Formats: sequence, C-alpha cells, structure tokens
Amino acid sequence: MRFHKSELAYFAFTFALLIAGALLVTALYGSDELSSNSGLRAMTHGALAVQGAALLFGTLYIYPLLRSHAREEHKLRMMTENLSERSETLEHVALTDGLTGMQNRRYFDDALREYMEEFARIERPLGLMILDLDHFKSVNDTHGHDVGDQVLRGVAEVLKDFTRYHDVVARLGGEEFAVVAPNMDHNTLPAFADRLRRAVAGVDIRTDNIHLRVTASIGLAVWSGGETAEELYRRADRMLYEAKRQGRNRICA
Ligand code: GH3
Ligand code: MG
Ligand code: MG
Repeated sequence: MRFHKSELAYFAFTFALLIAGALLVTALYGSDELSSNSGLRAMTHGALAVQGAALLFGTLYIYPLLRSHAREEHKLRMMTENLSERSETLEHVALTDGLTGMQNRRYFDDALREYMEEFARIERPLGLMILDLDHFKSVNDTHGHDVGDQVLRGVAEVLKDFTRYHDVVARLGGEEFAVVAPNMDHNTLPAFADRLRRAVAGVDIRTDNIHLRVTASIGLAVWSGGETAEELYRRADRMLYEAKRQGRNRICA
C-alpha cells in the first residue's frame, strides 16, 4: 500500500502527539513534584485529555478525509496519464501510413514546411523528390490488389533503407512517394535519386508462383529559396511527369 504525502505528514503529526502524550504520562507518574502539586496534575490530565481527543478526531475524521482525497488524486493522475498516452498514439496514427508504416502525406506537408523554414535560416540547399511507380495499375490488374500492396511495402522498405536518418520519406498516397533530402543540391540530388531508382528496380517480389519487379520514375527539385512549398512541390511533380513522358524508370531534374 502506498501512502500520499499528506497521509505521511498526518502520520508524523500523530507520532509527535503520541510522543508528547508519553512524555506527559512519564512526568505525571514519574515525578514527585508533579504528583504533590494538585494544580499542575490537573493541568497535565487536561492536556492528556485534549491530546486524546485530538487523536480520536484525527483518526476518525481527518485521516479518512485525507485518504479519500489521496485516492481521488491518484485516480485523476492515472486518467491524465492514460489520456496523454492515447493522444500520443492517436497523433502517431494520424501521421503514419497504415499500409507501409512510413510517414504519410500530412506528416510530409508539415515536415517540408518546417525544413524550408530551417534551411532558409541556415542558407543550405534542400532537395525534394517525388517518386511514382510505373504501370502500377497493371500490377494490380494482373496479380491482384494484395500483391500490389506487397509491392508497396517492399518499395517502402528499400526507400527507408536507402535514405539517410534526417531524410523525410513518406507515402503521399497510392503508389506515390516523396523524399525531402536536406543538404542535397543540383550536383548531389540526382545521384541520390538514381540510387533510389535502382534500389526500387531491384526489389524482388516473390510469392508462390509470382516473381515480379517494378520500376519508378522520379521528379526532382532543389529549393531555390524564393518559392513556397506548393511551388517547390509542383516543380518536382512536373519533373515526374516529364520522366514518365520520356519513357519511365528514370529521374528528371
Ligand atoms: P504510370 O506509370 O503512369 O504511373 O501508371 P500507373 O498504372 O502506375 O498509374 P495509375 O495512376 O493509372 O494507377 C495507379 C494505380 O495504383 C491505381 C490503383 O490500382 C493503384 N493503387 C493505388 N493505391 C493503392 C493501394 O493502396 N494498394 C494497391 N495495391 N494499389 C493501389
Ligand atoms: Mg504510377
Ligand atoms: Mg500515381
């Protein structure tokens, strides 16, 4: 049983009262001076009676009150802890893609804006790539939606494996993914994107009788500093469209 600190304080108070009572009793029966002085004896008896009454009042009234307050406080604290745990879980769910376990569109939108603010301040480049699987509809049509889902999870896995700790990797929806790549500029971003493209092309999906591979097209944009998140995104998206137009399984910057 665990006690609240108000209860512990109460116990200390009661203990002090008992010690005082014991001292009074010792004085009353152990001292000749006191036993010969009837006025002092009467006062000591009075003090003992008041202490006894205080102890009784404390035990029957104050302590139960403290105990019930302590219980309520404990219950309230448990509820608050429970609620904050649940809201953390809810926030996690709201920002995570259920199929792949990676970050979702909402997380990506917030993260891109935050990175842009920070990178404007430190004047460092920020790369963005949008990646779309090629002819994915035909994967679903040919092998079924479950195999399609398996491909999406496989692609998500390599994207997570091939990106760095501080890159933001998200599934934007359907078979479209995005990577925000801090400190990547016109020279470094294309090489990084091409490594991802090759990694995706290397994903091997095998089930009992199916063995398939997919490819991806990637549109790139390096933030110029002057544009908004929407403008940057649109520029990368136009490059993705261009990569599709040029024949897919390629990057376009
Ligand atoms: P393109 O090379 O031009 O991108 O062609 P595509 O077939 O990949 O593009 P399209 O937009 O026509 O098709 C996208 C398909 O992605 C349509 C839909 O069947 C599939 N898809 C979207 N979301 C999911 C999902 O959560 N699971 C699965 N299995 N398929 C999905
Ligand atoms: Mg596609
Ligand atoms: Mg698409």
